[in-house]
Amino acid sequence: MDEFLSRAVELAVDNVKEGGQPFGAVLVKDERIIAEGVNELHKTYDVSGHAELLAIRRAQEELRTNDLSGYTMYASGEPCPMCLTAMYFAGIDKVYYCQSVEDAIKVGLGKSSMIYEEIKKERADRSITMTRVPLEREQENPMQLWKTVNK
Ligand SMILES: [Zn+2]
Repeated sequence: MDEFLSRAVELAVDNVKEGGQPFGAVLVKDERIIAEGVNELHKTYDVSGHAELLAIRRAQEELRTNDLSGYTMYASGEPCPMCLTAMYFAGIDKVYYCQSVEDAIKVGLGKSSMIYEEIKKERADRSITMTRVPLEREQENPMQLWKTVNK
């Protein structure tokens, strides 16, 4: 196995031994580890405390950039939709992982799989109720303002 993927799995195993969930991630550029993360939900009250997201956050803080294009994520488990989304926003274009969301279901960690199914649905069919309320006429339009400012 690739050394970076092996490191991600090692992080995941250590995290389980410390009472956490079985997820570790390593963010790599030019064959060098830039940041690492493990699932920290057992330590922090933060649902975004996933291994990949924390690795991304650490790299971005360290490098003072939102652009991680050219970086590769190595994750012990297939990224959840939240982490995958963060990778899209950051421009990460390659992910290697060991265990799939189907493997996760088998041990009782089925939320990622459920969310992947949810986001395929039409808005009205999702379990989270989403209601669009248009801007009031007298309100300043934030998007129009942004467009004006960023011409
Ligand atoms: Zn995640």
